Amino acid sequence: MSYRALDDMNFEDKRVLVRVDLNVPMEDGKVTDTTRIERVLPTIRDIAAADGKVILLAHFGRPKGERIPSMSLKPVVRPLSELLGLSVDFAEDCIGPEAQAAVEKMVPGSILLLENTRYHKGEEKNDPEFAKALAENGDIYVNGAFSAAHRAHASTEGLAHLLPTCAGHTMQAELDALSAALGEPKRPVLAVVGGAKISSKIDLLENLVAKVDMLVIGGGMANTFLAAKGVDVGKSLCEHDLTDTACRIMDKADKGGCEIVLPADAVIAREFAAHAGNEIVPLDGVPADAMILDVGPASIDTVKAKIDAAATLVWNGPLGAFEIEPFDAATVAVARHAASRTKDGKLLSVAGGGDTVATLNHAGVAQDFSYVSTAGGAFLEWLEGKVLPGVAALERG
Ligand code: AMP
Repeated sequence: MSYRALDDMNFEDKRVLVRVDLNVPMEDGKVTDTTRIERVLPTIRDIAAADGKVILLAHFGRPKGERIPSMSLKPVVRPLSELLGLSVDFAEDCIGPEAQAAVEKMVPGSILLLENTRYHKGEEKNDPEFAKALAENGDIYVNGAFSAAHRAHASTEGLAHLLPTCAGHTMQAELDALSAALGEPKRPVLAVVGGAKISSKIDLLENLVAKVDMLVIGGGMANTFLAAKGVDVGKSLCEHDLTDTACRIMDKADKGGCEIVLPADAVIAREFAAHAGNEIVPLDGVPADAMILDVGPASIDTVKAKIDAAATLVWNGPLGAFEIEPFDAATVAVARHAASRTKDGKLLSVAGGGDTVATLNHAGVAQDFSYVSTAGGAFLEWLEGKVLPGVAALERG
């Protein structure tokens, strides 16, 4: 797709409405993790350095149009200002007289954070009147929040129709990574999908089998595929009512020339607990009272070989119950292998969605992947092949 980037715009003395993701973890009014704040700093710095007036728009939590004090963005001002090394002002509303008065006071290079956009019902409804009220305080709209782009809200989509628009750095990085992985990727493309259930990932699997050359299925969701092939998975997590869906996905893959790789062996235990007694068994040897909690060593070797054969990797979800040792072994081994191939310049690796970031952090390799998306739902919808309204609205007219 074609969209404008920050470099294509002239921000000098302009009021720049910048939609960012500041939906940070907070406890007792204190920000406990600044990762999301850190990601927006380059966009803010560049606009300020180009003498734009940076007006930040963001949502926090789900106040559903009510002014809920615990969902104020005010506690974000201090960490944001400290990380930027610049002062940041705050206005108690994102539209109306308070916002307007704060914007009028701004000088080129100054930064203002407006209160939670979701304090107004018009935000989530993408109400044109609310979008217009937001637009009154801006000359340019920058969308730097890929993670909110799957929602057609006033500050993520509506504004793009009212003001000259471009993508912020985080949005651009995300779009570049995703199009390198699934748009026009270097082939062969391998997808690794794990996690608990297929019920939440049917659309994702259907889209991937149509786009990738190889699909490794691991985690709890592999059990449903195995059951569909007649394997007795004992007490494993398994959606027996979805075996037809699993068959349909395998059939679609088969017809489209996508190789599906299922586990060949398993690590089983009799309880879902750290250090539970466990053993490695072939798939025809899962005892009736046991559950599969990880893929086994033969499966790990197969997945590593598939990674070696691939030029591009897309990864979502753990291969086993990675939160409890030793059932993190396959996820860690495969993540490290993918990271090392990436470091050697042999693989473009993109990962994200759900627990995937936590998984890669646990393996200590998140920084070695080509791109790790923290966008959650938006990343998953992209993998499902959906058009993200916030991204579509950036398309250069
Ligand atoms: P998801 O959010 O769908 O990516 O699922 C992540 C969850 O799947 C993690 O909490 C894992 O513990 C869980 N999981 C992965 N493999 C298994 C398995 N074989 N049995 C039970 N849970 C699993």
